[in-house]
Amino acid sequence: MDIAAILGAIVNEMRGIADRGMLPGYIPPLTQVDPQRFGMAVTMADGRMHVAGDADEAFSIQSISKVYALMLALETCGDPIWQRVRQEPSGTAFNSIVQLESEHGIPRNPFINAGALVIADILLTRFGAEGARARFLQFIRDRDDALPPIAFDEDMARVEYESGFRNAALANYMRTFGNIENPVDAVLKQYFLQCSVTMSCRQLAGTGRGLMRGRTAEPASRHVPTVLALMMMCGHYDGSGAFAVRVGLPGKSGVGGGILAIVPGIASIAVWSPGLNAQGNSLLGTLALEKLVRATGWSVFTPHCP
Ligand code: GLU
Repeated sequence: MDIAAILGAIVNEMRGIADRGMLPGYIPPLTQVDPQRFGMAVTMADGRMHVAGDADEAFSIQSISKVYALMLALETCGDPIWQRVRQEPSGTAFNSIVQLESEHGIPRNPFINAGALVIADILLTRFGAEGARARFLQFIRDRDDALPPIAFDEDMARVEYESGFRNAALANYMRTFGNIENPVDAVLKQYFLQCSVTMSCRQLAGTGRGLMRGRTAEPASRHVPTVLALMMMCGHYDGSGAFAVRVGLPGKSGVGGGILAIVPGIASIAVWSPGLNAQGNSLLGTLALEKLVRATGWSVFTPHCP
């Protein structure tokens, strides 16, 4: 299978599409990004990397960071975290508050904002503010030896902190149920820093190698199947069902326009197109993944190509 040729064809096709979705107006720096940008990268289990388009341009990973935060929390705090955040799809928007009242401040899953705020709180309790920041960055770096130094985009985090009233509301509300232990201010700062990390498609695909499991040389974490199952069910907010049907891979989106998708045992895929659909997921990123999966047979719901 000529993955490079498939990626090249997809990039060409995406370049010609006029409707590129909407930029997320509620995070001002993300409205400055050129919606014509499009990149894709695929890391194979044997380490081969295929890239196309703007695959080396860094973008804000935003909620893709929730995957790494969850993995770090699982590996350092273990299964007790599931007493504070559930494992169910929410069917609601990424920043929705509606379920929290009837469900006593326990978020449906770690990939909606409320759940990710609880995970940030867990990391703060475990490591303290400085430690949680350092451990989070180190955890991403440890995913891929080839990763150049990555850092928080402090300006991005500050802008989100100054205007993130909805996330502040979620954290304050959960605190009234005792499901946020640290000062809300500290939790928000940790969460926004995690979201602010910038990476390129090439780098993002590389960091997904551990999630591929199986044929990689790296020891697989026992938590990988859990994380992949949650990515499949909850990785695209209230668009998770449609993404599963169209793409058929565990994936996690971010409002920066990136998506990380995993083909278990076979490949780690990153795609970036800044315009979003109505659910806040990359419009063309989703379409490109659908096309890649159709060309390769990589959906987990169809027999894999060799
Ligand atoms: N930092 C964003 C927020 O909290 C992340 C949302 C996303 O990427 O889906 O609103």
